[in-house]
Amino acid sequence: MEKVIIVRYCEIHLKGKNRGYFERVFMNNMEKALSGIRHEIHRPSGRYLVEKFDEARAEEIVERLRRVFGTHTLSVGYKVPAAMGAIWEAVLRVAPQAGTFKVQSNRADKHFPLHSMELNAQIGGRLLSERPALRVDVHAPQSTVNIDIREDGEALVFCDLIKGAGGMPVGTSGKGILLLSGGIDSPVAGHMIAKRGMKLVGLHFHSYPYTNMQAREKVEDLARILARYTGGMDLYVVRVTHIQEAIHKHCPEEMMVTLLRRFMMRIAERQAESCGAQCIITGESLGQVASQTIEGMTSSNAVVRRLPVLRPLVGFDKTEIVARAREIGTFETSILPYEDCCTVFLPKHPLIRPDLVKVERAEAALDVDALLEEAIASTELVTNG
Ligand code: ATP
Ligand code: MG
Repeated sequence: MEKVIIVRYCEIHLKGKNRGYFERVFMNNMEKALSGIRHEIHRPSGRYLVEKFDEARAEEIVERLRRVFGTHTLSVGYKVPAAMGAIWEAVLRVAPQAGTFKVQSNRADKHFPLHSMELNAQIGGRLLSERPALRVDVHAPQSTVNIDIREDGEALVFCDLIKGAGGMPVGTSGKGILLLSGGIDSPVAGHMIAKRGMKLVGLHFHSYPYTNMQAREKVEDLARILARYTGGMDLYVVRVTHIQEAIHKHCPEEMMVTLLRRFMMRIAERQAESCGAQCIITGESLGQVASQTIEGMTSSNAVVRRLPVLRPLVGFDKTEIVARAREIGTFETSILPYEDCCTVFLPKHPLIRPDLVKVERAEAALDVDALLEEAIASTELVTNG
């Protein structure tokens, strides 16, 4: 009896004419997620079947596949010849020992001697006499034992549904550049946009030696965690120390964050252009801190010439963001206590509602182009997958 994993996908069916394309991208992403593990993926009908793997690695395969966007649910089950004896053996392996259950059969092969209802009744009855702690509940069972009789003379038997990551396959919605700090918010923002099918590249700013190597490694770790969902994620790392020093020297103290943000956006747009990204993504949430007011966003948006800036967390509370960070597995890394460049030279009283005209006037004291050139020249690339 062969162990198999059944993968059901979501939303793809909505895409009409593009369906073939979406399915191909999804298939490629699953293949990529399973690289290094022997397996075959087939597409019998409206779902995917992972077969021919080492059974000891089934759990690892499920863990990897459930993170692939587009995955709705997964089940671990068995593929057996469509005959009562073999089906029963498989049912014994997947069915629970106790609680409420029902049997749900599906007969694609009409030559199978029993109708679905008869098969349900027979298997259900045998289970009841075999396992006294089981009870039937056809309306709201705790477990459903599924038997799919297929046209090729085989049957799939499975029970539990494991929840997948949902969303759309990464690569079907273009490419965006994610401003990735070491904080809680930006990894969550990236995850949300990738879930809509967007390929991500990361961009991180550091102020070495004011920020240390551990701070940078933390961001690289976050990029690696995100990469498990996105099928790889390159990370660009850019030094902005000289920009902060110049702002510190030539501009009003309270404008440090406001002005730095404008440099970040300019660098992001240039980097996006050179790597083919079509938008800038940030982890900003309205009103969360002094720099995230609508005036702050106006000031940083004003230097972006062409690309949309996506802020998926704009309407989220911190508690909601933290819950998501825990769910996707970035929280523990995000809370490690290393400094971000935004906390270097942090003014005592940052501007809460920066006035664009005043910001531009203050910025006129700087040689913006030269500062940008120096930052861009410092770009390093860290590849993930
Ligand atoms: P986060 O938790 O994502 O760090 P935050 O609440 O700390 O967010 P800020 O530090 O004000 O907020 O940053 C707002 C957004 O600006 C971040 O979500 C991120 O997208 C971007 N950003 C901030 N610092 C950096 C950095 N060092 N490198 C790249 N992007 C950054
Ligand atoms: Mg931060």
